[in-house]
Amino acid sequence: MDRKITNKSFNLWNYYFVENGLKTKVCQNFILNLYQFSKKRLQTMREKIRKGLVPIDNRGSHDNHKKINIKIWVDLYEFLSNIPSKPSHYKTPKIDKLFFNESNLCINTIFNRFNEFYFEKNNIHLNISYKSFYNYFKVNCNYGFKTLQIDKCNTCCKYETKNLSLKEFEIHIQKINEFKILRQNLFNNNNTLCISFDYSANKPFPKLNCNKGFYSRAMFLYLFNVFIHKFNYNFMFHSIEGQYIKGSNSVCSYLYYVIDWLRFNINFDNFDTLVFISDNCGGQNKNINFIHFCQYISLLLDIKVIHIFPIVGHTYSICDTHFGSIGKKCKNLIIELPNDYLNIIKNMNKFAVISTAVLNYDIILNNLFNSLKNINISKLRRIDYSPYGRINYSYDYNVGLNTVNLLKFNIQYILNSLISVPNAPKGVINIKKIKDIYKLLDYLDDNKKQFYINYLQSFEI
Ligand SMILES: [Zn+2]
Repeated sequence: MDRKITNKSFNLWNYYFVENGLKTKVCQNFILNLYQFSKKRLQTMREKIRKGLVPIDNRGSHDNHKKINIKIWVDLYEFLSNIPSKPSHYKTPKIDKLFFNESNLCINTIFNRFNEFYFEKNNIHLNISYKSFYNYFKVNCNYGFKTLQIDKCNTCCKYETKNLSLKEFEIHIQKINEFKILRQNLFNNNNTLCISFDYSANKPFPKLNCNKGFYSRAMFLYLFNVFIHKFNYNFMFHSIEGQYIKGSNSVCSYLYYVIDWLRFNINFDNFDTLVFISDNCGGQNKNINFIHFCQYISLLLDIKVIHIFPIVGHTYSICDTHFGSIGKKCKNLIIELPNDYLNIIKNMNKFAVISTAVLNYDIILNNLFNSLKNINISKLRRIDYSPYGRINYSYDYNVGLNTVNLLKFNIQYILNSLISVPNAPKGVINIKKIKDIYKLLDYLDDNKKQFYINYLQSFEI
């Protein structure tokens, strides 16, 4: 290696490979690859040659590292335990961390505050670098900075800001506990089969890293998770915006698919009750169409069905945990096609990933069952369906005392009428959104462009 001094720069170097005394000029990359050097190491060597020093290998010859007094870490644990924190609502064996309540905390603020704490306690300044602190904290301290809880309950929020009395808050907490206890009892009962289901937050695509992608409207992939407790069967249904309307017909269709599958794969004779656990979404699973559907399932399987609804804001469904793990995998990724999401989900080997037709249940069910008069569906907490067509509904978690007969016709007629249900109509996509997507096509390659062009063709006005 020699240096070629020019007027312009001191940094022009020539590299040679010497074989049998024969010097062959080579490029820098050849040297780096041959000796497996990093560029930085080559730079150091060049620097030394430039200064006329002999490049000596100094590795391992530094003084002993300064040892950090173990007492510092004892103080750190004391400090951390004083910061308000709580376990995640989605606590699993894998996530047993405590999460700081304060949402604007980061490891840097923790370090600064610990410095102050340490000085106040010991009257000497903490003498460790941020890097040492960071490394120790990451490996040894079981604390996290972001709770997985996305939406906070309005009632709890009101209480925290002192706009709700303690008494009202206590009733709220009592209701939450009642739901949890009921759900746990249903999980533990050998004769009940519990099914949790929920839609995920819409997954946008294309999700590009250019500025334009950031400000444009994107299309949505809809994911619907159905989890069969006891058996741990985990279904992930998907459709894209415009394919179907994301609503009660899609919830009924996906659940029917699962129940039909279960009929052939498990023995329903082992169970006397089927339990549906969902959130309180009025457009999806807390409406008259879904009530009719549950009644239909009860008749079809000749089984009792119970549908329970959690307190809004305190859902903590297992489906949220599943969506959370998908969200983590997709975080910060560029998504060009809906399949990019689906491939990630398939590779998790956790879900049966299914796309199925959505059927127009409401048209048929509405004619076969009675409507519910004088019942505030949105306030219901529990509905019990009997295989004879009567429901008991309740505004709390006890078995309801109010009974309603849903059947308009005899059971056999109803079942026969539901043998073939027509497909649901196609959904719509906002025209402005379509225009936005077309503008984004410049940032996609031809194959991917074609997917959007083909799909959006049928939606244009
Ligand atoms: Zn609450």
